[in-house]
Amino acid sequence: MPNTNNIIQGLPFWSSIPEISLGKQIYDSLRKCTDDEVAYFDVYTGRRLLYKDFLRLSYQLASSLQNCGYKKNDVVVICSENNNNFFIPVVSALYLGMVSAPINHTYTQREILHATRNEYNETKKRIIILDSHAKVAGYDTIKEFIKKNFRNLSLEEFKPVELNPFEHLAVVLCSSGTTGLPKGVMTTHDNISVRNNHMRDPRINLQQRVILGLLPFFHGYGFMTNIGAIIDRQMVVMFKKFEEEMFLKCIEEYKISTLFMVPPLMLILAKSPMVSKYDLSHVVEITCGAAPLSAELETVIKRRLPNVRVIRQGYGLTEATLAVTLVPHDDLKTGSSGKVVPGMSCMVRDPESKKVLGPYQVGELCFKGRMITKGYYENEEATRNTFSSDGWLFTGDLGYYDEEYHFYIVDRLKELIKYKGFQVAPAELEAILIQHPLIQDVGVIGKADEEAGELPTAFVVKKPNSNISEQEIKDYVARQVSRPKELHGGVYFIDEIPKNLSGKILRRQLRELITKYPSKL
Ligand code: AMP
Repeated sequence: MPNTNNIIQGLPFWSSIPEISLGKQIYDSLRKCTDDEVAYFDVYTGRRLLYKDFLRLSYQLASSLQNCGYKKNDVVVICSENNNNFFIPVVSALYLGMVSAPINHTYTQREILHATRNEYNETKKRIIILDSHAKVAGYDTIKEFIKKNFRNLSLEEFKPVELNPFEHLAVVLCSSGTTGLPKGVMTTHDNISVRNNHMRDPRINLQQRVILGLLPFFHGYGFMTNIGAIIDRQMVVMFKKFEEEMFLKCIEEYKISTLFMVPPLMLILAKSPMVSKYDLSHVVEITCGAAPLSAELETVIKRRLPNVRVIRQGYGLTEATLAVTLVPHDDLKTGSSGKVVPGMSCMVRDPESKKVLGPYQVGELCFKGRMITKGYYENEEATRNTFSSDGWLFTGDLGYYDEEYHFYIVDRLKELIKYKGFQVAPAELEAILIQHPLIQDVGVIGKADEEAGELPTAFVVKKPNSNISEQEIKDYVARQVSRPKELHGGVYFIDEIPKNLSGKILRRQLRELITKYPSKL
């Protein structure tokens, strides 16, 4: 791997990357599908969506949206649990150069309003129901909307719009970045084409026809995996919700060879007694990302599933179109998150002196290349702080590489908490807590937890003479946020929140308090 001045470069791309829109790539691929190719299979209802119907519905929806006046750069917000139809509006939007903005369907009204505040345009606002089997009075389903607005345009006449894939946005995904409230990450068509190239690269991925659609589609990991699956016309075995037995049954039934996982699912493979009831012998590779995976867990899973040749840990972030380090086939090291992916460069930088560091020196991981997104939607300040003008992304993650350029992630410089792979921004919970009339001051951190990774935990200074209880505070937060953001780690009452001179919360000190006083008393 070339290395100049401690800038670590990934290998060259395996194959050329199409410099056309994702819409055109999908349209061209789906036009080649045969009559029986399955796109989505819903494991709970048994319903199937064929690729030929996916193509018909997506182009008809796109054409209907055009007839209603929607055009390039208009935004489609998708708020849904995993569903066979989830990617129909996404793909329609890609044909038209519109931008998708998937959001977590478990969000509370407050969270939805925050996530969509920039995309609201009252004159164009229209709600369409994704699931054609659900009736919601007053709103059209996708099929009804097409029936009302589609004017016979043949598939041959319909053409995805031309656009510049390097500049044009495909999707805006939620991430809170290094600090502050959740933001929209502006991801271009080319960012995703590069990721798709990695998915097809035999040096870092095993090719397969069927994949599990288990991870939430609104999160970058699930979203990108599905876009890649649609272009390659893989069958997605789709889960609306997670159930251990169904998960194991589907791996057996569909002879799944590669699993795309997050650490809480890995824990199930490592510990569940049910694992031995199913034939999981087809699984030869496991890719795991979104949060750290311990070397111990990796070892236990390899012992339980002896056919697994590679447990491929990946490290990445929404701001870099997900995985920027991945474990190559022939180059495994337990506990490592792999090597820099093809086409990208990395430097490890001392957070204080900004000096570029060498092997085994821990510093902030910074990446450059075609997967780096365009920054945060309508948030120039946050963009400036995280993305440099010469193309580097400062991840806010701390790590190092060894003499063979394997990367290890050790800690986080940024504020982010990850609960079961979901992002939780401490600033968001602090903003809610501080509004409580009986709370004087607050600091929120992640408490380490084997199952969830981290648990959102609050340190609270009560107002004088207030006797608010831990449960009251937990309930107060739970009423306003979706489940991952609840205070699963509990509330610690203290006299003062440790802060530096400029008022920044010293979160490391709060974390040390937990180690010192684990029982909270
Ligand atoms: P997201 O944008 O939701 O995918 O979250 C990205 C963040 O998750 C990164 O900045 C890391 O803090 C964390 N993360 C992702 N993958 C790993 C990994 N393999 N090891 C440790 N942390 C990870």
